[in-house]
Amino acid sequence: MNNVVLKMQNITKIYSTDEMETHALRGVDLTIHEGEFISICGPSGCGKSTLLSIMGLLDLPTSGQYQIDGNEVSSLSLSQAALVRNQKIGFIFQSFNLIDELTVYDNVALPLRYSKTGHTAQDIVQQVSHVLSLVDMGHRAKHRPNQLSGGQQQRVAIARALIGSPSLLLVDEPTGNLDSRNGDAVMEILRELNQQGTTVCMVTHDPRYADMATRKLHLLDGKIISAERPELDSHVLYAGQI
Ligand code: ADP
Ligand code: MG
Repeated sequence: MNNVVLKMQNITKIYSTDEMETHALRGVDLTIHEGEFISICGPSGCGKSTLLSIMGLLDLPTSGQYQIDGNEVSSLSLSQAALVRNQKIGFIFQSFNLIDELTVYDNVALPLRYSKTGHTAQDIVQQVSHVLSLVDMGHRAKHRPNQLSGGQQQRVAIARALIGSPSLLLVDEPTGNLDSRNGDAVMEILRELNQQGTTVCMVTHDPRYADMATRKLHLLDGKIISAERPELDSHVLYAGQI
């Protein structure tokens, strides 16, 4: 078995506001090995995005243990978490999250310019050209996001996620804003990246895309329910198709 990239034990997340507490995650145990392609399905509001945010150190769990590459990360300070996130994790969101005022090139270069490791101008040019060519967007480097189609914007967002060669790619409904042709193209890129060794963990509503994963997880009410348990199968199917 390959190295463990990520290990979560009994992770909970409670969002508290003045009026109410929302138990978004209720004890998630999850181990992801290098090279896996995980898909996560489940109905709206079951905690999928919360789980990805905690995995990617964008948010802290309320309780539980969490290791990335063998290092405990559940109790890191914000700046330490940002460092680990920068070095090891790439994010792709449904809404692309590109900055309209910047060119494609500058959007993709941004993580390197902000990283503490210090990159030379030449290094940045090389890395940006490389990831843009991986998603076949090198010819659009000088365009702005609003001059591109949704599918092209998502490819740029994938390039930005790949800059710095993250060991784990976290992907939240990547095809949600795309038609099926562009959705298929984005999934093909993710599949190729995985075949070249990148570990991928992807939330999707689309059963076809979930089936492309090497392991399928189903989340319900903040808990992972195993697809292998036959007594849950009808429930699982229902959750996955919403
Ligand atoms: P999913 O991605 O599966 O649709 P989320 O992880 O976004 O689900 O949300 C899980 C639950 O937590 C939902 O009930 C949602 O309303 C709640 N929630 C998510 N983010 C917040 C937040 N920042 N503050 C309060 N409640 C939140
Ligand atoms: Mg979500």
